[in-house]
Parts: sequence; C-alpha cells; structure tokens
Amino acid sequence: MPDTSRMIDPYGRAITYLRVSVTDRCDFRCVYCMAEDMTFLPKAEILTLEELDRLCSAFVRQGVRKLRMTGGEPLVRRNIMWLFRRLSRHLESGALDELTVTTNGSQLAKHAAELADLGVRRINVSLDTLDPHKFQAITRWGKLDKVQEGLAAAKAAGLAVKINTVALKGVNDDEFDRLVAWCGDEGFDLTFIEVMPMGDIGGETRVDQYLPLSMVRGRLQEKWTLDEIDHRTGGPARYSRCRETGGRIGFITPMTHNFCESCNRVRLTCTGTLYMCLGQEDAADLRAPLRESEDDALVEAAIHEAIARKPKGHDFVIDRRRRRPAVGRHMSVTGG
Ligand code: SAM
Ligand code: SF4
Repeated sequence: MPDTSRMIDPYGRAITYLRVSVTDRCDFRCVYCMAEDMTFLPKAEILTLEELDRLCSAFVRQGVRKLRMTGGEPLVRRNIMWLFRRLSRHLESGALDELTVTTNGSQLAKHAAELADLGVRRINVSLDTLDPHKFQAITRWGKLDKVQEGLAAAKAAGLAVKINTVALKGVNDDEFDRLVAWCGDEGFDLTFIEVMPMGDIGGETRVDQYLPLSMVRGRLQEKWTLDEIDHRTGGPARYSRCRETGGRIGFITPMTHNFCESCNRVRLTCTGTLYMCLGQEDAADLRAPLRESEDDALVEAAIHEAIARKPKGHDFVIDRRRRRPAVGRHMSVTGG
C-alpha cells in the first residue's frame, strides 16, 4: 500500500509546502509582473473561498505543514479573512506549522492585527524601492505611503516581516544599500529576487532588466559584511547575516542556481490547477474532482497522482534570441 498520509514525489522529496494563489487580480500593475491592460479570469472559473478551504484542508491531511496565500494580491480578494479564519483551525489542531501570506502591503493596515490574532507569525511584503516616485513607476498603480502604513501595522501587531525586492537593472540597483540599512533599522529580513521570464508583459522585456544576484551580492559586499548562515527554507533562497545590521539577507537565484533538489513545494492557482514546478507547464486540474463529489476521496487521489508527476527540476532561460518568456503564464497565476 502506498503511504497516503504523506506526499513523497518520485525523487524522494516530501511535499510539505503549498502556495495558493487565491486570486489573479491585483490593485497594482508591477511592470515585471503584469501588463497594464491585463485581462483577468471570469469569476465562474475561480474557486469559492469554501472550495479553497476544502482543497487546502485536503493538502493538510496529506502532509502539508505550511500554507502560503499569495496571488495576484491575496488581500484584495473579497472576504479573504474568512479563509484565514477557517484555515487557522489547522494551526490550532497542530496539523499545520505555518500559515502565511505574500502581499504587496496595500491592504495590510486593515488586516495585520487580525492576521496576527489568527496565528500568522511571519509575512512577506514585496517592496522594490523606498522612493515614492519610483514606487509608482514600478507598480504603476501603487502608493508607497499605504504600504508603509501596512508595514507599521504589521510591526505593531508583532508580525515578523520579510521584504521581497526584485533586483531591476537601471531601476532600483542604486538603492540596495539603502534597503539593507532600512531593513536593519526596522528589524525586517530582506530577500532579493532575480527577475524571472514568466508571462508576456508587453513593452520592455526582462532581458533588459535582468540583474544577476551574484552582482548584487558583490556590490553589497563593498559596504556590508555578509556571513553565510545555514538558514534553509527548502526553497530557492540562500541566506546571509549582515554583520553591521544583524539582519538576514536572502538571495533567490532561480536563473543562476539550481535549487530543485531540495524542493518541498507545489503551487495551486485560484482555479484549482496544481503546478508541480514553478518553471514547468505540466499541471493537474483539481477543480473537476473537487466539484464532482462532496467526498474528498476523488480530490485526494488526484493530488497524489499529480505529486507522482512532480518533475525533477526546471530550466529557466531568458531567451535572448527570441526575447520571449520561458514560461507562458504570469507570476500572478501561481504567485511566485
Ligand atoms: N501581490 C503579492 C506581492 O506582490 O507580494 C503576491 C504575488 S506576487 C506575484 C509574488 C512575488 O512575485 C512578488 O514578490 C513579486 O515581486 C514577484 N514577481 C512577480 N513577477 C516576477 C517576475 N517576473 N520575476 C521575479 N519575481 C516576480
Ligand atoms: Fe500585483 Fe504582486 Fe504582481 Fe505586483 S507583483 S502586479 S503586486 S501580483
């Protein structure tokens, strides 16, 4: 009999981390993520919050210990706090170690205290610049002061914050030292992300924005002392401790490093499609088995079938000749 209480993929990796894109919509239009005139999915295609709860709970029963809500912007989905409230029962029961969220911070001032009450301990907030004009240029529709308010609320609520910064050549590469110092002052961790070739965004291409993090690291080391630390999350980030600020600095380098051997995660979209790898197109539809029966046996079988197909790894390339994304879907579909 296969062990159905845990999900082990063909390469022996235990799948313990589910990232859930709860909506493809967003109140920002970051230039590297979306075209300004993005078309979004029709509502009927999107799982209800009740269905998302059912699916996430099925994953928790199958051995997932960490759930991350992402998007699009998770906190713009109507009534999203209902889902957090429902899922927090798995924290209380001990079935889940961590419930968390990746957000652009625009709605955080409203929700930070409740998130903390529900047992959320750490959140990721994406912020590429501390300059209000640049912030607006990058996000097109965002306002830096709203995000700053959200960050203050998160701090006041006792949430640990990790800032995610996409490194963009010619855009925010003059601000990295300032971001390190600011995160040190605020007590935030900081992770730099390489821009990834996902989804057509129109206009300028990411080939022009791509900045290898080896260069970012090199530049930071002219000013800061970065000590390697053994902090691993099973994900693509490698962490250092900044001796001067005491803060952790992570580097997510999907383009220059292969981190697939230790991959513990799968990604669910808001339509119930499960992607077994961020960098591959293969996917499994979980919405049909979910809707076909009120009993969860079908969907659990579909989950196991999908895990049995998890690929060994990905092969991201920024295609310099064709200047086309390596993966057709946008980051907002799977939430990064
Ligand atoms: N809206 C939320 C946010 O911005 O944090 C959650 C979803 S967003 C898609 C998750 C992360 O993906 C963000 O940190 C964002 O900067 C990053 N991201 C989006 N498009 C990217 C790309 N093409 N390459 C690298 N990172 C990207
Ligand atoms: Fe929205 Fe996040 Fe994409 Fe920016 S990165 S457009 S905030 S989903």
